[in-house]
Amino acid sequence: MEYAQEGPYRFRVEPQDGMRAPGVVFASEGLLRDAERSLEQVANVATLPGIVGASYAMPDIHWGYGFPIGGVAATDVADGGVISPGGVGFDISCGVRLLTADCGRRELAPAFQELMDGLGRAVPRGAGPGGVWKLSGPGELESVLEGGSRYAVEEGHGEERDVWRCEDGGAVADADVRQVGERARERGLAQVGSLGSGNHFLEVQRVAEVYDEPVAAAFGLARDQVCVMIHCGSRGLGHQICTDHVRVMDKAMPRYGVQVPDRQLACAPADSPEGRDYLGAMAAAANYGRANRQLLAQAARRVFHRAAGARLTLVYDVSHNLAKVETHTVDGARRRLCVHRKGATRAFPPGHTDLPEDLREAGQPVLIPGTMGTASYVLTGVAGGDAFHSTCHGAGRALSRHQAARTTGGKQLRARLEAEGIAVRPLSPRSLAEETPEAYKDVTAVVEASEGAGLCRKVARLVPLGVVKG
Ligand code: 5GP
Ligand code: MN
Ligand code: MN
Repeated sequence: MEYAQEGPYRFRVEPQDGMRAPGVVFASEGLLRDAERSLEQVANVATLPGIVGASYAMPDIHWGYGFPIGGVAATDVADGGVISPGGVGFDISCGVRLLTADCGRRELAPAFQELMDGLGRAVPRGAGPGGVWKLSGPGELESVLEGGSRYAVEEGHGEERDVWRCEDGGAVADADVRQVGERARERGLAQVGSLGSGNHFLEVQRVAEVYDEPVAAAFGLARDQVCVMIHCGSRGLGHQICTDHVRVMDKAMPRYGVQVPDRQLACAPADSPEGRDYLGAMAAAANYGRANRQLLAQAARRVFHRAAGARLTLVYDVSHNLAKVETHTVDGARRRLCVHRKGATRAFPPGHTDLPEDLREAGQPVLIPGTMGTASYVLTGVAGGDAFHSTCHGAGRALSRHQAARTTGGKQLRARLEAEGIAVRPLSPRSLAEETPEAYKDVTAVVEASEGAGLCRKVARLVPLGVVKG
């Protein structure tokens, strides 16, 4: 696919072959070179009816289902703009939550191995059922789907601050539980408060560097601060919802006269029965994802308290697989857009009215996991942020799971990380090997490209002390 450089971190694919908008990729030359194959998916997304601006890709772009991971696309709801489940992904509302601990690394040191053992035991993981919260039944599952982490906190699994420091105050209002199928409910019932597999983790980290003192202080972060980062999503429930609604949309497309170059881009107008049904189900899964992270944070709190007498305080919780109806100014006009962020993070600027009041001045915390062996970042949104205020979501995969597992054994990798001072509590050697740091791009390069492109600003770099891996 042909592309041209428009700026130091900005590349453009001109509209061609049915594209209704250009493709715009934010990346360094090096990162883009490694992701060239995925430009085909950027171009495919640009054919979606109602697309506004461009089909965007973040510096951590890689191949995904329909949309690339790292893809952002907005469509005009009032103008037949579509919603595509492939633009959200199978792990609906997969996202990251960051908490700070009120203890330093030195105070934690004597209890650290015990702490990691405790976290390893407290965090249910793997592909199957099992979660820290046993719901009373299908009725309570509906409460989770409607109330998200707010419901979890109301039921005693958290504190007041957890609610307002979570995106959307813990729950989106437009969840429609009727659109969540039987199989999705079955899968969801037994997995509230569980990590899932592979790429998902609960990590104890240390703030290694602060780039912006005032913003870091507003986020509650200081050098050498101990943190806990949790990355997980909506488990089997979200996956099943995606599967079910892709099927419905695949059938519905001809009725709306929609043609897509790839069946994985199945979609329907956001303001059609099929579009609204998916958005309602997706919102329910988003609430499930937030409750899931809330429950795991609560489990971590118990372990920190027991092992080290320490308290964990929520910095923020933000999804990186979600579509949201947001109002944006485009060419001077306010428009209601359905913004798909798939492997991309919302990054609202200082002053945005959707931010909690105590974060208004600093901007939205943007939480970027890197790898269990290198670093992760905290960023903030900036005024004028492009791509509807979106930025990267991680380092992004460079090797497939299979390729990664061929480069190292799990036991060998664990020994290497432990020798570097990183405690590892893996699920299995194989799943650990699939997640070797070499499987991912250089998170520092990704973050610099994101900042260089004007999508966000660096606040702090976090390094791993110990990781519980799915
Ligand atoms: P995804 O949601 O695409 O599966 O993952 C998001 C990002 O998480 C990946 O791009 C990768 O950079 C990061 N990541 C995966 N595993 C780990 C881990 O164990 N620790 C940290 N800190 N980051 C990870
Ligand atoms: Mn996920
Ligand atoms: Mn994720």
